[in-house]
Amino acid sequence: MIYVVAVVGGIILIGLLVKAVDSSQRTCPSCQAPGSFSKLFLRQCKACSAWVVREGGAWKAVGPGYVHKIAQFPAFLEDLKPPPRWQMPWPGCCSVCKQTTAMSTTVSFTGAIVGVVGPYVTKEKYSFEFYHCPVHLEPARFQQFSSIAVPGREGDNLEFKSFDFWQEFLRLNRK
Ligand SMILES: [Zn+2]
Ligand SMILES: [Zn+2]
Repeated sequence: MIYVVAVVGGIILIGLLVKAVDSSQRTCPSCQAPGSFSKLFLRQCKACSAWVVREGGAWKAVGPGYVHKIAQFPAFLEDLKPPPRWQMPWPGCCSVCKQTTAMSTTVSFTGAIVGVVGPYVTKEKYSFEFYHCPVHLEPARFQQFSSIAVPGREGDNLEFKSFDFWQEFLRLNRK
């Protein structure tokens, strides 16, 4: 009997621990659609495309003006024009707060251009400068294969800290 109580107690305790550690939410705070939103990361709702983060104990949808602590707003290469035709938003200004700055960081990646030479896929190395102020280091980065912010979507992508920079980058460079 004591053994049974101990086992049941153990199972309940494990259940409580899992619940405490499990940081995901099952519904979008914007449209209430079911989803999996993580405490650690920015996530996009599949149903309404809202970006969702957890801040100060509450889930919220974020938009213009929002800056994430790490670069996570993704621009998938397959959605973009070929890199040689890209235009950078806010030249000479921080890619997060738009303040004039001379500091920049280089993001390099190898990307495919399809159909440049007949039907062949060619791989080229590209490097882009992203300006940043002393506060907003690493405003952009390259992620291979997938983005943690968009579960289920595969593909190389550039990721940005600033929602506004990300939107402007897509506006300028989307196919
Ligand atoms: Zn939603
Ligand atoms: Zn800045």
